[in-house]
Amino acid sequence: MKVGIGQDSHRFDFEDKNKKLILGGVIFEDQPALQGNSDADVILHSITNAISGVTCVNVLGKISDEMCLAQGITDSKAYLYEAVKYLNESKIIHLSLSIECLTPKITPKIPEIRKSLSVLLEIPENCIGITATTGEGLTQFGQGLGIQVFSCVTVV
Ligand SMILES: [Zn+2]
Repeated sequence: MKVGIGQDSHRFDFEDKNKKLILGGVIFEDQPALQGNSDADVILHSITNAISGVTCVNVLGKISDEMCLAQGITDSKAYLYEAVKYLNESKIIHLSLSIECLTPKITPKIPEIRKSLSVLLEIPENCIGITATTGEGLTQFGQGLGIQVFSCVTVV
């Protein structure tokens, strides 16, 4: 059994009215998008990093930049699948997420995010735990400037 930890954070782009906010593959309507060359799905990036924490093959960075900038792949699901590829025979059995932000309100969307991640990772929804906090506004995430996500994956 192996456990991987991952983190990612993005700043909101309050100017870009065309880009959509996507978290865990779920679109949040009428919310500012996150900055980034890709779709900036900070949840999927965090999970991708957690999987890299198990496989020791870092996808975000050199590999994702190549996919994004050279091949034009901006869908973060592609980076996630790239990381999953290196799990080989190993299988994810559990995922735990901790999200810090002021906006959007995460809690009402948790069931939808769990469902989306369940489909993407092919694990049951009851093996995906998600918590969300504003951290009492002590950081810029809790002050509404961006979103931070920590992920923990368990692999057998
Ligand atoms: Zn990212």
